[in-house]
Amino acid sequence: MTLLDLTPHVVTDDRVTTLPIAIIGAGPVGLAAAAHLVERGIDFVVFEAGDHAGSSVREWGHTRLFSPWEHLVDAASRRLLEASGWTMPDPKRAPSGDELVAQYVAPLAALEPIASRLRTGVEVIGVTREGMDRTRTRARFATPFALRVRTVDGAIEDVAARAVIDASGTYRSPNPLSSGGLDLLGMAEIADRVTGALPDVLGRDRTVFAGRRVTVVGAGHSAANTLLALAELARQEPGTTVTWLIRNAKAVRVSSSADDELADRARLGNRVDRAVADGEVALLDGVEIIRGRRAGDGVELIGHRRGEVVAHATDVVVNATGFRPDLAMLREIRLELDEIVEAPKRLAPLIDPNVHSCGTVEPHGFRELTHPERDFFVVGMKSYGRAPTFLLATGYEQVRSVTAWLAGDTASAATVELVLPATGVCSTDANEAGGCCS
Ligand SMILES: Cc1cc2nc3c(=O)[nH]c(=O)nc-3n(C[C@H](O)[C@H](O)[C@H](O)COP(=O)(O)OP(=O)(O)OC[C@H]3O[C@@H](n4cnc5c(N)ncnc54)[C@H](O)[C@@H]3O)c2cc1C
Repeated sequence: MTLLDLTPHVVTDDRVTTLPIAIIGAGPVGLAAAAHLVERGIDFVVFEAGDHAGSSVREWGHTRLFSPWEHLVDAASRRLLEASGWTMPDPKRAPSGDELVAQYVAPLAALEPIASRLRTGVEVIGVTREGMDRTRTRARFATPFALRVRTVDGAIEDVAARAVIDASGTYRSPNPLSSGGLDLLGMAEIADRVTGALPDVLGRDRTVFAGRRVTVVGAGHSAANTLLALAELARQEPGTTVTWLIRNAKAVRVSSSADDELADRARLGNRVDRAVADGEVALLDGVEIIRGRRAGDGVELIGHRRGEVVAHATDVVVNATGFRPDLAMLREIRLELDEIVEAPKRLAPLIDPNVHSCGTVEPHGFRELTHPERDFFVVGMKSYGRAPTFLLATGYEQVRSVTAWLAGDTASAATVELVLPATGVCSTDANEAGGCCS
């Protein structure tokens, strides 16, 4: 067993001390990390693959969050924003993703100390230590990190950093449609008929679905939101049919239950149950998808169902099977991950979705997020790996603790306090592909 080394890191190499801390991702959590570093007077650089801060949130921007504003704003970020004249939106109201970006993420990213260190349109494609693959140990922790980045015009460069905070989320790496977790056989043939989770069914993406046979794959809250929007579309646009295809016999994370402590979640489950009972949504359960193929004007999903091979014909498929962390870019970093959820080893038992809902996750900080690779942390949505229970309030406490640790303030880093929302949320997808979350 590896013992957790909690002695403060004494950096001996002069060059390392002059380098910034690299933050990967300008989502709410990456920007919160930036705000804490601003307050501590530590230099940093934020790499954001999208054109703007909050790019992933904007993808599902038409969707309303369950959490109200009071649980969506990081404390350090709020201090910086209020000093510039910003006012907190109604704390009891839950915003849409677009409102979260427009009223909080974008103004935060625009603050001078953050804007001047934010590089948008720059994707991190690999992380290592300068001149050292993961097998090299000698002087490893005094050697700067090297982040390989690709800009929108295709240029590739390596950027040095003294520490790395990976807040890149999971939205850009959805689970595949296949039950086995590998890319779906035949995907290339049907790719133009498959959309990602949470399309804007009644708005921007309406024409993709109107008058079509639509199949939603997945058992989580994204699937539920999309199914309800499609049921509404079907009422407005004749010829639209909606099928809900799930692997399990029951969509446990969506259908309502008497002990569901989250009222909004229960309501969502109730509404989907009703849509199924009323025949607005056809439920096809127990299907393990193995292949996709072209069939006439549409496509077919081929799978196993109760021991038989079945072919389900449809025009459009919505992949709402959940998300997974992109670990490929961390291949040269010494990570210690739980073998099931792919969260940091010490964090995984605290967030096991078989035991915990979002509201019962214990406060945690740098200790639980530490890897054998010193000064390297995965935070935010990505830190939960394949578990669907992440809350922003949790992520903000993570980065408060991690940045305190990197600043050498071990007392503050070790004191983790988290007031979890009583009306919290589990709003991401159940992972149909992994045993942990289905
Ligand atoms: C529909 C939905 C509803 C939700 N509702 C709630 C809620 O009510 N309450 C709550 O607390 N949580 C909610 N969540 C969960 C969670 O809080 C959000 O997903 C949140 O956006 C996570 O923040 P993040 O900063 O960790 O990641 P993200 O918001 O995903 O940000 C990551 C950023 O990193 C960038 N990026 C990714 N890869 C790279 C790379 N290689 N290089 C550079 N940049 C990269 C992305 O473009 C993105 O901007 C919800 C999630 C979803 C999907």
